[in-house]
Amino acid sequence: MEPTPASVSISSPEEKKPEGQEIPIHRIVSGIQPSGKLHLGNYMGALKNWIDLQNRYECYFFIADWHALSTNYENTSLLKDNIRNMLLDWLALGLDPGKCTIFLQSDVLEHAELNLLLGMITPVSWLLRNPSYKDQQEQIHARDLATFGFLGYPVLMAADILLYRADHVPVGLDQLPHLELTREIARRLLHLYGPCVPEPLPLLTPTPKLLGLDGRKMSKSYDNCIYISDSAEVVWEKIRTMMTDPQRVRRTDPGDPQKCPVFNLHGSFTDDAARKEIDKGCRTAGIGCIDCKKILYANIETLLSSARRNRQKLEGDTALLGSILEEGAENARQEAKKTLSIVRKAMKLPEKHLFG
Ligand code: SF4
Repeated sequence: MEPTPASVSISSPEEKKPEGQEIPIHRIVSGIQPSGKLHLGNYMGALKNWIDLQNRYECYFFIADWHALSTNYENTSLLKDNIRNMLLDWLALGLDPGKCTIFLQSDVLEHAELNLLLGMITPVSWLLRNPSYKDQQEQIHARDLATFGFLGYPVLMAADILLYRADHVPVGLDQLPHLELTREIARRLLHLYGPCVPEPLPLLTPTPKLLGLDGRKMSKSYDNCIYISDSAEVVWEKIRTMMTDPQRVRRTDPGDPQKCPVFNLHGSFTDDAARKEIDKGCRTAGIGCIDCKKILYANIETLLSSARRNRQKLEGDTALLGSILEEGAENARQEAKKTLSIVRKAMKLPEKHLFG
């Protein structure tokens, strides 16, 4: 009997801690494609949560360079720079290699082996019904995405997660369907070969949708981002010229904060009390847009100025960056090898030399 897709249950490791008993260790794994410098949307959507999670759980965070090839296989000239920039942004924002394992996916070849094994058991129909497969093919015309690698990227994603026997994966609501395919593959593994790896649960994390300078979703492809590595001058110039409520033409015109992308950013960077004041001031024309933007700039700069200082310290230290990735890969490899040994045994594959 084929395992059937089950509905996803949302759980938090916190809920599982039994009172008065030893707190179980929870392992979390997550990765991001190195598609360029991180922007505020990436920070709010992932990094902010990771920085919090590293203090509470055993975390594996990886730069998903093989995943980047699934859509950008034709032009790899920027890949190394993108990896370096992403690592710098992670560290500058506060991801701490002393608290979590940070590594590069392609440094741990076990990802490729588990990807191959899982590929053997994953029905093509599961991959064809993946909504992003069709969506991205329709949206991205400049590249040919009718490739084996792009169709199979959910299998690689499953390998990335199952390789660390992670019990939880931090996801936003919109990413739940992606994790569900990993869970289906884990169930199929269980069905065919018996218990090998846990079926990971989603750890639902807040992922507010940040709007960009032009009012559309903040995205590199729209060229409307504030980047973590932008200078203070660039950040101010971007905020100063940012779109506002189009109805607020003159200083004396009342506005609607809900129609303004500046107010959307206040939602993530300004505290409740100040936000209420701005809301009222905007609706009554009591505050001008430049003053409103200055408050936002100051709040964003609180985060970015310290990230900028950290980045400057790290930037020239190539040896340190290299050793962080090396140590991370070594840690990751140890766990990955254990998992592959379990999976190979369950699949009755030869462990070493068949006749040795
Ligand atoms: S006052 Fe602020 S929230 Fe209102 S329109 Fe101007 S920038 Fe937007």
